[in-house]
Amino acid sequence: MDIKRILGLPDLLDVKKIVCVQPHPDDNEVGAAGTLYKLAQRGCEIVYITVTDGRGSGSTGATDPAEIVEIRRKERLAAGGIIGVSKHFTLDFPDMGDYTEQDILHKLIPIIRGEKPDMLLTVDPWMPYEAHPDHYKTGKAVAAAMLFSSNEILFPTSEPFAVPQIAFYATSHPNTYVDVTADWERKIASILAHKSQFDNLNWPMVKTYFDYEAGQLYGKLKQNHEAAGYAEAFKVLTSHQLHFFPAALYS
Ligand SMILES: [Zn+2]
Repeated sequence: MDIKRILGLPDLLDVKKIVCVQPHPDDNEVGAAGTLYKLAQRGCEIVYITVTDGRGSGSTGATDPAEIVEIRRKERLAAGGIIGVSKHFTLDFPDMGDYTEQDILHKLIPIIRGEKPDMLLTVDPWMPYEAHPDHYKTGKAVAAAMLFSSNEILFPTSEPFAVPQIAFYATSHPNTYVDVTADWERKIASILAHKSQFDNLNWPMVKTYFDYEAGQLYGKLKQNHEAAGYAEAFKVLTSHQLHFFPAALYS
């Protein structure tokens, strides 16, 4: 049973406005830049929310947290420019800070209600072995925001809005593949805009891995291991599948 079809919800590539919530300033590009660029080309409005300030990065060459935050802010804006991001919000939690999912949730709900997207995008917090607290806290907070942005009793301070769908990247249980072969160079350019994170001696190895992983996903998309191209993978769920819905894992 395809709940999305029953509800008449659009496919990922047909959404008109997407709010993309990333734990760190570079996660959206690594997870979804090809698809986001494709969406931007199709007229979709792309809004970024960045949860932490990225001050924990040891690879900028700076040691002053304020300086690191500023470097990463500029890189985030440059990468967003390459993809076609139209608006940026920052929640400004410190990288690996002592904040909770609830803290993120309370900041997310008014932004989501104001933006009224038809899809949210974020990291999959249920990826097995994901050990980074910024990642699993962010993914879970975004999923909770799906459930509660429509609840005016619990969150009475702004006008309720129900977001119908959510897509998770960095997922171990994808149900949606997007062919990004034509967008691959653009994706790589957007990742490299995060110079402090990627433009270093490790880049050839990292790039080889990105190419390999996206090539594997393309093989799954085409159901042919020998097909040559690049794909990104997502777990797309409706809000109905985010609570008391054991079959969500297999949908
Ligand atoms: Zn991250």
